[in-house]
Amino acid sequence: MKAVCWMGTGNIQVHKVPDPEIVNPHDAILRVTRTAICGSDLHLYDGYIPTMEAGDILGHEFMGVVEEVGPEVKNLKRGDRVVVPFTISCGNCFFCKRDLWSLCDNTNPNAQIAETMYGYSGSALFGYSHIYGGFAGGQAQYVRVPFANVGPIKIENDLPDEKVLFLSDIYPTGYMGAENANIQPGDTVAIWGCGPVGLFAIASAYMLGAERVIAIDRFPERLKLAREYCGATTIDYTDNDVVVVEALRDLTGGIGPDSCIDAVGMEAHSNTLIGMYDKVKQAAMLETDRPFVLRQALQAIRKGGTLSIPGVYGGALDKVNFGAAFGKAVHMAMGQTHMHKYLKPLLKSIEAGKIDPSFLISHRVGIEEVPDMYKIWRDKKDQVTKIVIDPWRDQIGDKIAA
Ligand SMILES: [Zn+2]
Ligand SMILES: [Zn+2]
Repeated sequence: MKAVCWMGTGNIQVHKVPDPEIVNPHDAILRVTRTAICGSDLHLYDGYIPTMEAGDILGHEFMGVVEEVGPEVKNLKRGDRVVVPFTISCGNCFFCKRDLWSLCDNTNPNAQIAETMYGYSGSALFGYSHIYGGFAGGQAQYVRVPFANVGPIKIENDLPDEKVLFLSDIYPTGYMGAENANIQPGDTVAIWGCGPVGLFAIASAYMLGAERVIAIDRFPERLKLAREYCGATTIDYTDNDVVVVEALRDLTGGIGPDSCIDAVGMEAHSNTLIGMYDKVKQAAMLETDRPFVLRQALQAIRKGGTLSIPGVYGGALDKVNFGAAFGKAVHMAMGQTHMHKYLKPLLKSIEAGKIDPSFLISHRVGIEEVPDMYKIWRDKKDQVTKIVIDPWRDQIGDKIAA
């Protein structure tokens, strides 16, 4: 089969590799019909996630048709159409039973690496380094799905792939980001980052009762989607007249946003002095993350507000004003998405027409174009907002602008 392989920092190639096979009785093999490149794939592309090995197959957002199931998979059969959550969970451990699916204790065979770094390991993830289990990802023509009796959700309607594909990560991740923000009716919510997760967080914040959402980014095409599709007030932080913390204070009658959502994470961009400091320290491996958004959100948030962090962080943070969090009694919630908890209710919201998750797709490509697409996605060229891949289409062409 053809698969998208990580070959080193900034080096993605499409290779012919052996088809996956059933290894454990709970496995299924999926013929992938649609997959996507995620913002967090860029952390791998840019070399910020350790333990990647040349040849690792990328991709954790995918769906497809069941080709084969192991003897213990009773809920799926050949021919079923499914979306697969990006976290791998066993369904039986202390954490899975408490709906904390992304903290599953049983699925990461390389748990000792995370245990050394974090004390305990979270669940395994598809296509996301050996720290997270070293499982092959779904930017490929076929993929092995472990614990297939627990994760995949059957799609039994005739909605096109594009409308349900994002149940694999970004829609639930944006939704949990909003849910973690403890939004009360009438609240004002500030969201940093209008990438896919940020956009879904905006839409979800309104579903959860926000009165107003203020979205912060620098790319016109993203700000446009945030405004026109999702209904946010937008701030372009590169606008010379704008100081984000002051702008948020002005927009909230001097009190600050009730909730702040950091949908950016470890590779925050900033053209300020402190932003340069982060870039230099991270490049010199003296700092794992560039926590610029976190610093700003902690300054901006109102007293007693809630800070939700769906953006990914990797390690120790520098110059984060923890005193601001303490001094203002800020509530915080974060972590990988507890995917399995959200699949059914969010599928229902799509079926009911409350949201059409395909609104943010800007590029539809075949598998051979993927290496170029990683570059376009990283550099935010060509007005890119989300790239969807048909792994069975070879030929170059029919890119569709938003
Ligand atoms: Zn993702
Ligand atoms: Zn578990």
